[in-house]
Amino acid sequence: MTWRADVLTLFPEMFPGPLAHSVAGKALEKGLWALECLDIRDFARDKHRTVDATPAGGGPGMVMRPDVLAAAVDEALAGEPGGRRVVYLSPRGRKFDQDMAREMSLQPGLILLCGRYEGVDQRILDTRGIDEWSIGDYVLSGGEVAALAVLDAIVRLLPGVMGKPDGLTEESFEQGLLEYPHYTKPAVWEGRAIPEVLLSGHHQRIEDWRRAKAEETTKARRPDLWEHYSRAGKD
Ligand code: SAM
Repeated sequence: MTWRADVLTLFPEMFPGPLAHSVAGKALEKGLWALECLDIRDFARDKHRTVDATPAGGGPGMVMRPDVLAAAVDEALAGEPGGRRVVYLSPRGRKFDQDMAREMSLQPGLILLCGRYEGVDQRILDTRGIDEWSIGDYVLSGGEVAALAVLDAIVRLLPGVMGKPDGLTEESFEQGLLEYPHYTKPAVWEGRAIPEVLLSGHHQRIEDWRRAKAEETTKARRPDLWEHYSRAGKD
């Protein structure tokens, strides 16, 4: 079955956007994954197609109505055999990472709810068992950019999407480490030479050098990852 994403948004014209290009775009064209967008405004009930209202208890901004969102979520879930997971992109959510991307690439797909304004009425999350995912500790103006990032990370892990699947296992986070540095031609550039070992043709030495560099970089830049990696006894 084709991996499928449904995106619920007030801005369907933002999709596929960057996902129509390069790796994800080619895969979309080949039918290795599918993308559907539902315009949340189509589920509004009044002639003004209202999707939001003022926050209960007062305060700034507007909140997306649960009745309108429920109609959109239920439509996306209708006829689902296994029931894809529904995720609301939110700065309050679990921090999205490579493990989550890998796990999702093994599922049948995902339904992503993009918020706007101050966010969504809590009751839509509670009644529909919706998870919340964040793409980082900063506030975007809408969930669409977050949904694009999440989809890009997942789609490149789907079978057949990347030309050389071997390349994936060496990438940052795949082994609990950040990736080693890359070099290419020219051999010397602005007085800086490519590290000699990389030109040696000696596969074991190259592998050892790359592993050492990956460890050094992770230790210096991401003590959190390093601690986890060391504790897992991989070093
Ligand atoms: N009032 C909310 C808060 O302080 O948590 C922020 C709302 S934000 C302006 C509007 C929408 O952008 C959110 O409903 C969410 O869908 C999306 N969004 C903002 N930052 C995000 C992040 N870091 N990760 C995922 N989605 C985000």
